Amino acid sequence: MHSPESPYIGRFAPSPTGPLHIGSLIGALASFLDARAHGGQWLLRMENIDPPREIAGSDERILNTLRRHGLNWDGPALEQSTRSEAYDAALQQLLSSGNAFRCSCSRRQLARFGGIHRGACVASVNEEDCAIRLAVPDEIWEAHDLLQAPLRQNLLQEVGDFTLRRRDGYYAYQLAVVVDDAYQGINHVVRGSDLWVSTPRQRLLQARLALPTPTYLHFPVIVGSDGHKLSKQTFAAAIDDSCACDNLLLALRFLGQDLPPRAQQSSVERILNHAVDHWHRQQLPAVMGLPESAFYD
Ligand SMILES: [Zn+2]
Repeated sequence: MHSPESPYIGRFAPSPTGPLHIGSLIGALASFLDARAHGGQWLLRMENIDPPREIAGSDERILNTLRRHGLNWDGPALEQSTRSEAYDAALQQLLSSGNAFRCSCSRRQLARFGGIHRGACVASVNEEDCAIRLAVPDEIWEAHDLLQAPLRQNLLQEVGDFTLRRRDGYYAYQLAVVVDDAYQGINHVVRGSDLWVSTPRQRLLQARLALPTPTYLHFPVIVGSDGHKLSKQTFAAAIDDSCACDNLLLALRFLGQDLPPRAQQSSVERILNHAVDHWHRQQLPAVMGLPESAFYD
């Protein structure tokens, strides 16, 4: 439990790569409920640092879907596209402390090493055409979670010197998320288990930048019958904003939470009020993934 000196600050951080689907609504709802049930703030961050993957108009559509579901965030949304200076400052700090390096190794050259960059570069550095990587130590990094078992990774062996800024000049997710969580004062990260595996990388980066580590809670994500993909027609499809109550009830059921009495099920506000009052982390399914079939009674 957080201390009174550091009030709970949580967030939801969608990418504008398309409209929200039920999986992303579950993420929004879980982080919202955990924040509100602890009297915390719930901030919004638009992770728009990868223009080639973004779809015009998605950001407004996402915000509208959140509003229609009563998921109202505190303060203005932070746009990652406005944060280049902060990312550059973090890169500069890492480069000058020797914790990051410029690298012009190609994917093809790294293929010989299983695509993993470990230590010395195989190509000579071309300052005009290079990525920036974190120098990863050959040691175990551990991540802790309120729901999942601790995760121990030898980052150099399993991941390698990971990218902070890509060769095409775009900033990597790992850098932006760590810099912005700290900037927004986020001390509780509630997100899907698909991001659990990148948490030790974020821990290392937080340590290198002398930033605090938030408390993590990774809830299971929905997996399709093949273990990965969701079926397009149901769970990967865009959310229908006109059935907000049904969507919220479906998401609550997935999160193992108690549903409000039937008489309260036709109002977004009542559903959310009930859900905040009855939010129990210990009822979340403590697994990494739940099959789509878990939704059907
Ligand atoms: Zn290299």
